[in-house]
Amino acid sequence: RTVFLNGDFVPFEEARIPVMDRGFLFADGIYEVAAIIDGKLVDEVAHLARLDRSLRAIEIANPYTSEEWIALMRELAARDEVREGLVYIEVTRGVAERDFPFPPEGTPPTVVMFTQAKRILGAPAAEKGVAVITVPDLRWKRRDIKSVALLAQVLAKQEAARAGVSEAWMVEDGHVTEGGSSTAFIITPDDRLVTRPLSNAVLPGITRIAVMQLAREMQLTIEERLFTVEEALCAREAFYTSASAIVMPVVTIDGKAIGDGSPGPMTKRLREVYLALARDGALA
Ligand code: PMP
Repeated sequence: RTVFLNGDFVPFEEARIPVMDRGFLFADGIYEVAAIIDGKLVDEVAHLARLDRSLRAIEIANPYTSEEWIALMRELAARDEVREGLVYIEVTRGVAERDFPFPPEGTPPTVVMFTQAKRILGAPAAEKGVAVITVPDLRWKRRDIKSVALLAQVLAKQEAARAGVSEAWMVEDGHVTEGGSSTAFIITPDDRLVTRPLSNAVLPGITRIAVMQLAREMQLTIEERLFTVEEALCAREAFYTSASAIVMPVVTIDGKAIGDGSPGPMTKRLREVYLALARDGALA
């Protein structure tokens, strides 16, 4: 396994980050995760556009163009021989003596990239559907930035793990914001696909955009609006999306069955269509 670290491909065991890295000291950095399916990157252009947006939002200069990033990601996936899994990118504000304001101009960012082999296509959880719990959303007010400050999600997802479920849906003022690492969707009893609109309150999911486009093509009515936990409990179907989970059917929320307690037909179709496009390399 290889790590791309500050311009070099180095063996995993030899990749080291200094103690004074601002990513370590302040979580002062941005990350991005894209899927690899059938050896091909999925929706990489959109993921890199989000990386660029997040870096701009915290004033870190993007070290590479989108084309350069894509070449590096492909090279890494090839070196690691990953046919199915994830590419993780992290860019921090670099290494400098610990002090809150930005380090001196010219301090190079720290750039890290690695892959994780992971089953995506035939994930058993997707066949049976998964359980989620709801937890309070404890995060800051700029959740649209894909910051590596993930403590609230660590605690939310640990609570989910402890409860033996797959994801935590975070709740603010009675409304579901999103999953700990995914976008939350419900399908109402009158067949409307509902997900929260984009704002500072949620991360703009890349899978979310692709799935909404597919839903539009399938003539589903889409409503971008807030929804409560109570509405979710009464939904006909529920699912969440992310680069790694793709479209994951949710069959219980806080222990209560959604619909008939098995993955819903629209959810299954959205997953199948998305995976077919990814396999064909049609989600570049
Ligand atoms: N919301 C949050 C909080 C996330 O961490 C993620 C995963 N990065 C998502 C949504 C889903 O985003 P994507 O579809 O781009 O993976």
